[in-house]
Amino acid sequence: MSVPTRPAWSRTLGHQALALAAALAVGWPLGHPWPALAMAALGVAAWHCWRLHGVLARLQSHQWPPSATGRGAWEELERQLRLNQDGMRARNRRLVAMLRAYGAVAAALPDAVVVIERNSQRVQWFNDAATALLGLEYPRDMGEPLGERLQGLRIAHWLAAGRNAEPLLDVASPASPEVRLNLRLIPYSEDMWLVVARDVTKMMRLEQVRRDFVANVSHELRTPLTVVHGYLDMLEPDDQPEWAPMLREMQRQSQRMTRLVEDLLTLSRLEAQEGVEDATVAMEPMLSTLRREAEALSQGRHRVVVEDAAGVDLAGSTRELHSAFSNLVSNAVRYTPAGGTITIRFAREGGGAVLQVADTGYGIPAQHLPRLTERFYRVSTSRSRESGGTGLGLAIVKHVLNLHHARLGIESEVGRGSTFSCHFGAERIQPRQAPPGAAP
Ligand code: ADP
Repeated sequence: MSVPTRPAWSRTLGHQALALAAALAVGWPLGHPWPALAMAALGVAAWHCWRLHGVLARLQSHQWPPSATGRGAWEELERQLRLNQDGMRARNRRLVAMLRAYGAVAAALPDAVVVIERNSQRVQWFNDAATALLGLEYPRDMGEPLGERLQGLRIAHWLAAGRNAEPLLDVASPASPEVRLNLRLIPYSEDMWLVVARDVTKMMRLEQVRRDFVANVSHELRTPLTVVHGYLDMLEPDDQPEWAPMLREMQRQSQRMTRLVEDLLTLSRLEAQEGVEDATVAMEPMLSTLRREAEALSQGRHRVVVEDAAGVDLAGSTRELHSAFSNLVSNAVRYTPAGGTITIRFAREGGGAVLQVADTGYGIPAQHLPRLTERFYRVSTSRSRESGGTGLGLAIVKHVLNLHHARLGIESEVGRGSTFSCHFGAERIQPRQAPPGAAP
């Protein structure tokens, strides 16, 4: 049991006073009170030095007697020091156990986890999965720059982007090329970054199966649909007045199914593509074509305005870009009531360029905007169907723009209209070529 500090302190002071008083009592009758007192004081000081030496020795060796025997200030000091040391030891043990547990969790993660130092990008720690997925080996790769160790992945640039690095999707593992990985860079502190690699082979395989399935189904549907469509076209509704409404509806629906299959095939083709050709996309004829298409679709119900202020051409695939732009134009016409205006604008934007299709139509409520480019996502299903939409137009636009490293921006206000903008980077800009036959 611990003696409270004050009584222990008073006890030690009491003992000292007693020793001095005893020395005086012996020295006085002998006629030498002061030398006796001085000897006693020296004795007390020596005793304190001896105790201090003992405490320091025990502190250094961490060896305390099982329990302090005395009840003075020195025993109390030893008791307190021992308690503090015991407490610290228990805390350390708990911390070590916690660290071990965290280490075991990180090591057991199925994802590869690599801790790197921010400036040098040298490997500080990695788990077992990093050996299997990234081919890192202990102790060979400890302290090595990660970019150099994973040269096959060409991630030096990606690591240099730091906080702004987008996840790297579907890259081949340096350990075995058939394993596909997604890589993420997480700057979890000022000095340390975490690189996490996840095995997405199964997911990619499933995604491939899904893509193949949609492509195959669409392909298989195409032939029977063409046959049905052909026969329906041969039937003249006016020849059979009682069948006329049904025949017209059948023709309309078969047209819709054909468009749906064509759009699905286009999407499958775009998904299978890794990149696009870098041909010159002549924008002057492109804008003229878009104007003609808008006017044909509108049939005079809208005002169509084309503004060509960029004076440059784009690099990419004319066929794919035309399909994206004409989807936007067709949407603008279909979702704008008669009397509205459709504006197709091509202009410079920073080092790049932007193609905008703006309408004064129904507009889109803000909560729908983030999901608009998902397949079959429609703000109003009935309006989309009535207008002959397949629900795949904007998904196609997004894919085409992704292939061109371009971005789709959507601004809309209900009742006032919408603006769809295709933003192209500087690397897609080409000087405009004179149209064939024009004077030099
Ligand atoms: P759809 O074939 O149905 O038009 P899209 O993928 O082209 O499919 O467009 C998705 C949805 O986005 C449409 O159903 C429509 O609700 C909305 N939308 C697209 N363009 C416009 C626009 N210009 N004005 C208003 N709504 C639009």
